[in-house]
Amino acid sequence: MLRLLLLIPTTTYRTEDFVQAATKLDVEMVVASERPNVLESALPDNLLTLDFGDPGKAARTVAEFARRHRIDAVVPVDDRTTVVGAAIAERLGLRSSSLEAVSATRNKHRMRDAFARAGVRSPHFTLLDVSDDPEDAANRATYPCVLKPTILAGSRGVIRADDPAAFVDAFRRIVAILHEPETASLGDGATDILVEDFIPGREVALEGLLVEAELHVLALFDKPDPLDGPYFEETIYVTPSRLPAEVQSAIAAETRWAARALGLTEGPVHAELRVNEKGPWVVEVAARTIGGLCSRTLRFGAGLSLEELVIRHALGIELDSLERERRPAGVMMIPIPRGGVLRAVRGREDAIAVHGIEDVTISAHVGQELVPLPEGSRYLGFILARADSPEAVEAALRTAHDRLAFDVDPPGSAPSTGSDPSTEDSCR
Ligand code: ADP
Repeated sequence: MLRLLLLIPTTTYRTEDFVQAATKLDVEMVVASERPNVLESALPDNLLTLDFGDPGKAARTVAEFARRHRIDAVVPVDDRTTVVGAAIAERLGLRSSSLEAVSATRNKHRMRDAFARAGVRSPHFTLLDVSDDPEDAANRATYPCVLKPTILAGSRGVIRADDPAAFVDAFRRIVAILHEPETASLGDGATDILVEDFIPGREVALEGLLVEAELHVLALFDKPDPLDGPYFEETIYVTPSRLPAEVQSAIAAETRWAARALGLTEGPVHAELRVNEKGPWVVEVAARTIGGLCSRTLRFGAGLSLEELVIRHALGIELDSLERERRPAGVMMIPIPRGGVLRAVRGREDAIAVHGIEDVTISAHVGQELVPLPEGSRYLGFILARADSPEAVEAALRTAHDRLAFDVDPPGSAPSTGSDPSTEDSCR
């Protein structure tokens, strides 16, 4: 029987969908996480503890394990495990993009550099350090621009500035985020701040699968709400895209080019682009699937999930069809209305009752401290819809959202149970 290694951080929303996909495939599953599981001694052949922060060490641990139990594929389930996944794959000779290529996707400055060298359409940028003088940098910048940390995800610390005063303010907010112990410990790049030209336009997300360096487009999502800043909180994703066919082709071509510029060759890619009169601009390309519960909008061929496709590809099992099921689908990440402590969630049943709504998942819990962007990076949950047209999907999502109500006490006015450590609950 084929043996699959899944890399699953303890705080991801991706566990269920990947484990379900692996279970359907009748493969032997080994689950690696960064904290010891209480069952590890009882199931030493199926549970592993790996230091996801140290890819070299993790690869050595897996190589040791693989001497006793052959591993046929490794699948990282989200952003935090892509690099360690590539390190393991490289060490064991498994199907994956190279460690170097995957590492570049996790550093926004390295990614911009690779795009600039290859001529991928992406914004001009300069790199600053937290110790630089923000006033000085603000006087040299062009506006509007976007400031961002290079190594965080989920739009955390991504801030638009339209003038020098906003630049200095954004810079200081990012410095504060980078000084938090959990971010300061991320090492390489943890003191970098990237400044880029703001790209106006509509935003889309492309979900693809690289097979022998060939990019197959699995789905293109429109993001119908404008994302103009100053913070970039997401709301709605709808597929198929309503953009004209030639624009969709140009988006696929630019993504293909971007993946090549990074040196990605195998496995899932999730790309974010913005489209304006000059064409598609690549915001970023990640070597993983779409985040959160957003992949539940997608089904392929005879009903396969995105996770099944990814696992099959990693194991070298034949992929019968990469054709997305035709029915339009969409997801809304429920935005945080304001910072504070969540006291109650009302209207879920009414929201689910909206025609076209498949599910409403509230991932935040009562008592939790809600931290909006740019300091936070979380959402309250997900609404999933399927309907006869992309317009109907979007309308269903908006109606369902209108029926939900969140009671939030002002910050500090009531005790909270703390913020949730998970950072992976958006489609980005
Ligand atoms: P993350 O990986 O943390 O989500 P990104 O660099 O992808 O960070 O930025 C998050 C979002 O911020 C993008 O999806 C986009 O909406 C917006 N954004 C980032 N950079 C730019 C830019 N240069 N111009 C316009 N919007 C941007």
